Amino acid sequence: MVENKVRVRFAPSPTGHLHVGNSRVAIFNWLYARHNNGTYLLRIEDTDVQRSTKEYLDSQLDSLKWLGLLPGGSVPDGSVPDGSVPNEFVLYQMSRVDEHKKIIKELVKKDLAYPCFCDPEELNRKRDECIKAGKTYKYDGTCRNLKYTDRDSTNRDSTRPHAIRFKIPADCSFVEFKDMVRGKVKVDSEHLDDFIIMRRDGTPTYNFVVVVDDIYMKITHVIRGEDHISNTHKQILIYNALGADLPKFAHLPMILGPAGNRLSKRDSAVSVREYKEQGFLADALINYLVRLGWSHGDQEVFTKDEMIKFFDFDHVGKKGAIFDIKKLEWLNGVYLRQKSFDELLVAVKDLGNDYYHKIQELWNADQLTFLFDLYKQRATRLLDMIHNIISLAHDPKVLDLDLIEKWKSPKTTELIKVFLDDLKKVDEKKISHDSLLGLAKDVAGKVEVKLVVLAQPLRLALTGKISSPGVFDLIKILGKEKTINRIKLLIDKLDNKS
Ligand code: GLU
Repeated sequence: MVENKVRVRFAPSPTGHLHVGNSRVAIFNWLYARHNNGTYLLRIEDTDVQRSTKEYLDSQLDSLKWLGLLPGGSVPDGSVPDGSVPNEFVLYQMSRVDEHKKIIKELVKKDLAYPCFCDPEELNRKRDECIKAGKTYKYDGTCRNLKYTDRDSTNRDSTRPHAIRFKIPADCSFVEFKDMVRGKVKVDSEHLDDFIIMRRDGTPTYNFVVVVDDIYMKITHVIRGEDHISNTHKQILIYNALGADLPKFAHLPMILGPAGNRLSKRDSAVSVREYKEQGFLADALINYLVRLGWSHGDQEVFTKDEMIKFFDFDHVGKKGAIFDIKKLEWLNGVYLRQKSFDELLVAVKDLGNDYYHKIQELWNADQLTFLFDLYKQRATRLLDMIHNIISLAHDPKVLDLDLIEKWKSPKTTELIKVFLDDLKKVDEKKISHDSLLGLAKDVAGKVEVKLVVLAQPLRLALTGKISSPGVFDLIKILGKEKTINRIKLLIDKLDNKS
C-alpha cells in the first residue's frame, strides 16, 4: 500500500551543475511536501558512472543548500553524505545497484522480462532505416518469442552477451494515467515496444531503476519535468509488473528561452551557481522560479510561508514558461531592498570571500551600512552593487566627457569651479545631503543653470558614470578631501579639452 502521507523526491543526476529548470523541479517537490506536511527526499541518480562526477555532485549539493532545498538536516553543513551509508533523507542510487539487478533476475524468472541477444549494431541499422523511412522504430520482438528451452538449453543466457528487455504484456492495448498538471495522458500500446531494462554491460536503465527506487522510497507523488512524460507509460508497466501501487504523477512544463525553445546556454545562464555568482539572491530566485508556471492570483512576491500555504497543482500551467531575466532582476531588486545590513553581508559572502573582505577593507561598518542602503535602492544584481561600492572607493579610472555632453555648455567649467570653491569653505562636520543640495542650488542659481547641469558632471567626477545614487549622498560618504580631488581631476580634464 502506498502511504497516504505525501512523500516526494528530487532526483538529480550529478552529470552537470544544477540547471535552473531542475531546481524548479526541486522547489515544486519541496513546496508540495511542505504544503502537505509530507516528506521531501533527495535521490542522487549516479548510476551513469561515465558522466557522473564528484565535482558535479558537490556543485549540485552546494546549489541546493544555497537555495535551502536540502532535505531536513540530512546533509551536514558543507559536507557531502557518504554514498555508502544512505541515511534517512538521501539515497544514492548506485548503492542499490545489486538490488536492481536482483529484481531484474526475478522479472526474467517470472517471464515478465527476457534476455535479448540481438546484435546492437544490427538493431541500430534497423532503427536508422525506420527513421529514414519516416516510421517510428519498434523492437521487432525477435528474442521475445524464443522459447525458454531454446534460450537456455546450453546455458547461453549467462554466457552470450545480452541485454534484458521488459515484456510488454500481450493484453495491454494502452497505458493511461492522470497527470496532476496535464490531466489524462494516454498512449496506445502500438507506440510501446519491449524496452531494455538492463544493458549488455549489465547496467540497469533509468526507466527501471527509477521505479524500483521510487517503490523502495515509498514515493507517493512523482513530480518532475515534462521531458519525462514519455517515460511514464513504461514506468507504469514496471509498477504493474512489480505488483506495486502507482504514485501520482505531475509533469512540469519546461522553461523556455525567449524564442520559445527550451532554455539553453545561448539564451541565458542555465545553472543555479551562475545566478548565485551574478548576485541573485536565493530567495529571489526561488520566488521567480515558483511563479514560472504557477500562480496565485496576481501576487508576484511571496514569503516562503505564503508559497507553502498557497501552493497547489491546480494553478500550475500546462504551457512552457518563458524565462524573463528582466523580471528576475526586478524581483531580485525587491528582495535586495528588503534585506538588512547583516543579511546583505551574508549574501556578499556567498558571492565570494574576496568581495566580502574587500568591501570591509575599503569602508568601515557605518559607511558600509550607509552605502548598502543607498545602492540597494536601485540595484538589481548584488554583484553590480558590490562592484559599484568597491569602485566608489577609488578615483574613477576614466572621465569620459562624452557622457556629459548633453549637459555641457561653455559655462560648465566655471560652474564646477564655483561649486568647488564653495565646497572648500564648508565645515566638514556640517556636511549633509541637504546642506550640499542647498549649496549646489545656490551655485546653479548664481551661474544661471539648472541643478542637473551641475549634478551630472559632479556625478561623473565622483563615479566616472552618469547614473549612480544621489550625488550629494556620495559626497557625504566620500568626505571633502576625496570629493575635492575628484572634482579637480574633472576640471583638469575639462580645461585640457577646451
Ligand atoms: N535523474 C532524472 C533527471 O534528472 C530524474 C527523473 C525523475 O525524476 O524521474 O531528469
